[in-house]
Amino acid sequence: MRKPFVAGNWKMNKTIAEGVTLARALAEGLSKDAKADVAVIPPFLAVPAVAQALKGTPVKVGAQDVFWEAQGAFTGEISAAMLQDAGATFVLCGHSERRHVIGEPDEIVRRKLDAALKAGLDAILCVGEKLDEREAGLTEKRLDIQVRSGLTGLAPSHLSRVTVAYEPVWAIGTGKTATTAQAQEAHLFIRKLVRGMFGAAAADDLRIQYGGSVTAQNAKELMGQPDVDGALVGGASLKPESFLGIIAGA
Ligand code: PEP
Repeated sequence: MRKPFVAGNWKMNKTIAEGVTLARALAEGLSKDAKADVAVIPPFLAVPAVAQALKGTPVKVGAQDVFWEAQGAFTGEISAAMLQDAGATFVLCGHSERRHVIGEPDEIVRRKLDAALKAGLDAILCVGEKLDEREAGLTEKRLDIQVRSGLTGLAPSHLSRVTVAYEPVWAIGTGKTATTAQAQEAHLFIRKLVRGMFGAAAADDLRIQYGGSVTAQNAKELMGQPDVDGALVGGASLKPESFLGIIAGA
């Protein structure tokens, strides 16, 4: 049985002080009976203070991005070891805003995922189709390319530290959520793909989060689907009430 994983991606929101306040409120409000693993993903600068504020709580801290090299002349970039040093235990790789706003191709996402896993960080590999791809019937083709590119050749011990987040680009930050049927269909497709690549046991253990305008109102139904193992949450993770409401739906 896969334990749901609910992670809040703060994106480029929250000062350090605001992040600490939000993290504390979340930890205080988290029920002891919570059925999900819970994490927050602050901007880089808030990671150390938020990790410190959450020490001793079950809430994990991740980072939103990582560079693939360990050190050197890469102005503006942050290595996996630096993230660990700051208190992060996992990192997002290939979030749709990195892919489509910043322009990261699959090859770069793969290098980041590899670097994170080799350094000992866990990773969330984000995948998802754009609206025109869905409308053209290309959803599965896009997911196939992104999942294969992200995971091919990973050692089984590394795969077990990866979560996949299915995030249809048209549903991120738009208020448009995939229907439960659309989410389940895409998640099952990804799981079958991973079964073909790594075998049944690895695919059965893989957690696949849904992301895209998840709210406290729709979380329970989405996470109630057999292949939806939690949520990657943007906007609704910026307030403790709404994020705690989502966690309660797991
Ligand atoms: C996200 O940031 O990955 C996300 C899904 O955002 P939102 O929940 O705001 O759609």
